[in-house]
Amino acid sequence: MVNDSRLKVVIVGGGTAGWMTAAALVKLLPARCHVHLVESEAIGIVGVGEATLPHIRAFNEKLGIDEADFMAATRATFKLGIEFRGWGRLGDSYIHPFGTFGSGQGELDFHHYWNRARLEGQDVGALGDFSMAVTMAYMNRFTLPDADPARIESTFNYAYQFDATSYAPYLRRIAEQLGAKRTEGRIIDVELDGESGDVRAVILENQERIEGDLFVDCSGFFSLIIGKTLGEPFEDWTQWLPCDRAVAMPCRTRTALSPYTSAIAMPAGWRWRIPLQHRTGNGYVYSSQFTSDEDAASALVAAVEGEPIADPRVLKFKAGRRTRSWVRNCVAVGLSSGFLEPLESTSIYLIQAAITGLVELFPEREISPLDRDEFNRLIDLEYDRIRDFLILHYHATERDDTRFWDYVRTMPVPDSLKEKMELFRRRGRIVKYREGVFLDASWIAVYIGQGILPQSYDMRAGLVHEASLTDAMKSLRTRIRTAAEAMPEHREHIDHYCPMPDAA
Ligand SMILES: Cc1cc2nc3c(=O)[nH]c(=O)nc-3n(C[C@H](O)[C@H](O)[C@H](O)COP(=O)(O)OP(=O)(O)OC[C@H]3O[C@@H](n4cnc5c(N)ncnc54)[C@H](O)[C@@H]3O)c2cc1C
Repeated sequence: MVNDSRLKVVIVGGGTAGWMTAAALVKLLPARCHVHLVESEAIGIVGVGEATLPHIRAFNEKLGIDEADFMAATRATFKLGIEFRGWGRLGDSYIHPFGTFGSGQGELDFHHYWNRARLEGQDVGALGDFSMAVTMAYMNRFTLPDADPARIESTFNYAYQFDATSYAPYLRRIAEQLGAKRTEGRIIDVELDGESGDVRAVILENQERIEGDLFVDCSGFFSLIIGKTLGEPFEDWTQWLPCDRAVAMPCRTRTALSPYTSAIAMPAGWRWRIPLQHRTGNGYVYSSQFTSDEDAASALVAAVEGEPIADPRVLKFKAGRRTRSWVRNCVAVGLSSGFLEPLESTSIYLIQAAITGLVELFPEREISPLDRDEFNRLIDLEYDRIRDFLILHYHATERDDTRFWDYVRTMPVPDSLKEKMELFRRRGRIVKYREGVFLDASWIAVYIGQGILPQSYDMRAGLVHEASLTDAMKSLRTRIRTAAEAMPEHREHIDHYCPMPDAA
């Protein structure tokens, strides 16, 4: 008889979180676990979540996914960043780009030079003029980044905008080919061990009992094991992130295919616009304290640019997270562990971060409390930092034209964010951290885009002669523009590289 010491992992739920977890475990830890996923087609998946962050590329690469094949199957487009319209002030706009500002070559962050020139009264232009990703985005251009770090065409990064309902089935094929088992059915009960309190099995409607050593709760907002069964508390962050609903409605694409997601400020929240190959995703994320579902749906219908292809659909949520994501022998991944609104497309990233933590800290036989605590520490850090970054978008505004904007402008914010904002306002300094998703360029883009302009700059930016600084900035801007002009249109690149199967 073969002695199989692999752990039996039961994944509850087959949305994006469930199938990302299943595919990663069978691919990366084949000698350590058996994977059995249970999902219910009758319950279905959330089915939104179309914009991603560049980290997803590393995840797909680890799974051996061919980019062009994946993009064609999910009708994906490229994403160079997020455009924010009307956030700092009505009529404003800026892009949070993926990539650096400047040439990415110097020791010092480029925005210090930009800020020095601005404070000296030079006509420097917008910070975005010095970003390859921003320039490409506004010109609707795209090509893959250059591998040579000396070239300006290497200074941007990219993510995808894809059909949220196709990613999980795409991963399911991979996971099943690699040995993941799938059971269709509704779970009606979760059995705990009377002595230890650990989860022993899930019971399906047809009375089938599926036992496991480790359970991954990917049941979405139902939070079937970690929330309903184990009772892990949910930390509610509504006081800082008051949006608690979204109304979604896709439409036909009428305009050029933009290589970026738009987040357009609305009276009680904001509206997303995500161009895919075959349609445009739209949704209005709003706070039910400040508008009704009916008014939000009407505002969305009035705002979308193309012919609607479905009725408006309302989704409800609450900002926050479970106090711990790993409790006993249950790890929560995806919406069951918490939710932060999709303003910076962070949910799929959070799924990926949890999977990375789980793979790195995967139990040998017994679960070590040390590993579990470390996992929870990592996930807390991710959530807390994203939370602060999201709050910044709302709080750093001059808008007081609606009750919603006045509330977020004047609300007290977490001390951790207050300190970060003060540090930046003084001398443009970014709080550095080793772990966490948003690095310097992201914070810089949002601070400056929202109108927080530093009163001074890093002293090293003062060492350059004024005339040399002016010349260097001018030539950098020209280099970026010239490089972008030489690139193909976004649509042309897609048609050549990864057209969807029925595109012809
Ligand atoms: C309005 C909105 C916009 C979003 N936009 C983005 C975005 O742009 N980018 C991004 O990264 N993320 C976004 N997200 C988040 C993203 O949709 C989710 O993170 C992602 O879809 C993962 O969901 P999930 O797999 O955790 O849950 P779900 O998709 O809800 O899947 C849950 C699974 O659990 C199963 N299940 C539940 N109960 C049972 C049961 N009793 N028995 C058996 N099976 C069960 C269901 O059948 C399903 O398979 C958005 C979310 C919302 C609400």
